[in-house]
Parts: sequence; C-alpha cells; structure tokens
Amino acid sequence: MKKEILIIVFLLYSLMIHQDKPLFTKFYYQIKEIQKPDSFDVLVNKNNCLSPTYIPKDLEIVNTKVAYDQKFLRHEAKEAFEKLSLDALELGYHIVCVSAYRDYDYQKDLYQYYVDSKGLEYADQCSARPGHSEHQTGLSLDVMGSNMDYNLFLHSVEYDWMHKNAHKYGFILRYPKGKEHITGFKFEPWHYRYVGKKLSTYLYENHLTLEEYKK
Ligand SMILES: [Zn+2]
Repeated sequence: MKKEILIIVFLLYSLMIHQDKPLFTKFYYQIKEIQKPDSFDVLVNKNNCLSPTYIPKDLEIVNTKVAYDQKFLRHEAKEAFEKLSLDALELGYHIVCVSAYRDYDYQKDLYQYYVDSKGLEYADQCSARPGHSEHQTGLSLDVMGSNMDYNLFLHSVEYDWMHKNAHKYGFILRYPKGKEHITGFKFEPWHYRYVGKKLSTYLYENHLTLEEYKK
C-alpha cells in the first residue's frame, strides 16, 4: 500500500516538472541577468537578477510628507506615489513610504542578517538575495498605514484603499496571497511596485502577477 502511494506521488511530481508550463517554479535556478534594467516592466525575482553595479540614474528623494525619513525612488515612481499618498490623505488615509530604493550592498547585508539569525529557508521566504530584490530597481516601495507598522499594514484601514486604488496610479501589489508559488515570496500586503498605469490596470483587472504577464 505504502509503495503504491509513493509511486503515485512520484508520477504526479514527474508530471508537474516535465510539462511545458510547470505548476510551480524552481527558484534560484537557471538565473538570468537582466538586460534592460531601466524598463518599467522589468522582472526582478529569484530567477532574474540585476547586476551588482546597477543603480538607476533618475533616483529622487520622496517628499518627506509622505515618506519616513529620506527615501529614494525613480522620478516617475516618486511622482506617482506622492500623488497617490496625497490624494489618499485628502480622504483621511495615511499611506507612508517606509522603504524604497535599496542598493546591492544594503540588500546583501539585509539578506545575510536573516540567514544568520533565522536560517537559510526562512531568509529565502522573506528576503531576496542580493541582485534579486526589486528594491534595487528604484520602482518598489514598502508602505505603512495609520497603525504605524508595515508588518500590520493588512490590518490598517489603508490596506483596503490601497488594494482598490493603487493601480490607478501605476502600482501593483507585487506579492499577492495565493501566488506565492509563482512569485517566490510570501504574501506581502505592504510591498508595491510601479509599472505604469496601463500595465498596472491590466494586471489588476486580470489578477495577474508580473511573472505571469512576462512569461
Ligand atoms: Zn519590499
């Protein structure tokens, strides 16, 4: 009986990995270096990495009215986020940027901190290896709401507003619930990515991740 179960599991596994479109992605495998890092639809993930020397040329400081301390985003993403946050504020929602552009070396230290303190498996679920973080594009940011903790953003009144409106400003919720096997990251309610209004609206309306779109 046990043997039969093992055979079935093996056959199912073989079926999953040998078809043209596998049901799950093998992460940190056959990694490609990104050729057009400046494009707004750039796909940075566990299988596509940025060069250690890549620094966006148009980084600008985000208005400190809507950011915690000094945060940098690329010009277009910065303008879009400031508009989003100020529009939200008029409606009584406080959406503040707590993390934005992070360079290669910063990510290297951050990832290593998780590996040292929590182990490799945990680190890979919640932090990207250096070169594999979207934060290096200058197009990604983490936000917090009026409950003042990005880890608790899901439980803030701002989460719902952000979820329904971010695409109108060019942003997508980058690591949604239920798509962990595609993005390689656990659900991150606080992490948004700028892709431009046309693409963000398309992805939002079709419930697609950037991975599914770029496939
Ligand atoms: Zn993030």
